[in-house]
Amino acid sequence: FGVKSMTANQEEATLSGAELLLEGTIIKGYSGFYYVACGDKLYECSLRGKNRKKNVKFLPGDRVQFSILPGAEKGGAIEAVLPRKNELLRPPVANLDQLVILAAMYDPLPDLRLIDRLTVFAQWNGIMPVICFNKCDLVDQCEQQRLLEIYRPAGFPVFLCSTVTGQGIEALKQCLHGKFSVLAGNSGVGKSSMMNAISNRWQLATGEISDKLKRGKHTTRHVELFRLDEETLLADTPGFSSLEIPEDIKREELCRLFPEFLSRLEDCRFATCLHRSEPDCAVKEALAQGEIAPSRYENYLAFLEEVIQQERSF
Ligand code: GDP
Ligand code: ZN
Repeated sequence: FGVKSMTANQEEATLSGAELLLEGTIIKGYSGFYYVACGDKLYECSLRGKNRKKNVKFLPGDRVQFSILPGAEKGGAIEAVLPRKNELLRPPVANLDQLVILAAMYDPLPDLRLIDRLTVFAQWNGIMPVICFNKCDLVDQCEQQRLLEIYRPAGFPVFLCSTVTGQGIEALKQCLHGKFSVLAGNSGVGKSSMMNAISNRWQLATGEISDKLKRGKHTTRHVELFRLDEETLLADTPGFSSLEIPEDIKREELCRLFPEFLSRLEDCRFATCLHRSEPDCAVKEALAQGEIAPSRYENYLAFLEEVIQQERSF
């Protein structure tokens, strides 16, 4: 029989003995089992011998094809993993669409260098950075506007939110819908409050699956995806605050990860321009014209130093 993928509804109609392949997303892996979301169901899947032997690695976020075990309603076996769009090491997830960078307007003050570090990391991995400023109720319009203007030239989506007043929450939810996003942010910025504001009906995978798994629910090493609805996935990560610039970025590539620099690069006099002290630099010109935010440029220079240091240490 051919490989078939189908939706949960089709599945109901055709699951009549013959072994069929369904397609779903791995929500979590735990002690040899993978929990695969398909439609509104969660299947506990093991690996087939061939996959176990090959030491194939499966990650939360992976799209997989799996078969239903005869007689088992929610037990399956993973047959194949579909090609990945991207793959992160920390947190270990695959097929990420968005990195939601959560910062606070105040208490704590936003760490613009960390935000830019995360945008570079996201851009390098082919993931859209989404910037979300929480606690807007603590600052005036002017300050909100100031932060918005820093990222507008880069073209990143920016959301001005408050979990206290509800400002911006609906817009953020729309941005998350139908995608797989990771929420990154230092403690205190309101990550837990934001998770609760986004949904009051968290479908924690641990609550849905067998007792076998429940015993292991304190294993924080394991990344677990939350399902906002059937098409929307969200993961929380504590592991981003001390992120280094990826060491395989070369010095001339760094500026390409700043979208507001990108359109100007061909106007620099030198093709090798690093936009530091070279004459006739179009990036510095845009900075002088106020078309690039000073903080973005300064952070670019700081990261450039890091990249050059890393090149030297090889
Ligand atoms: P986490 O450490 O990032 O998970 O942050 P929490 O959700 O625990 O929030 C940290 C503190 O910020 C708590 O005292 C929250 O009540 C407060 N907080 C969260 N969101 C907002 C907000 O939008 N406005 C204000 N003023 N305080 C908030
Ligand atoms: Zn230049």
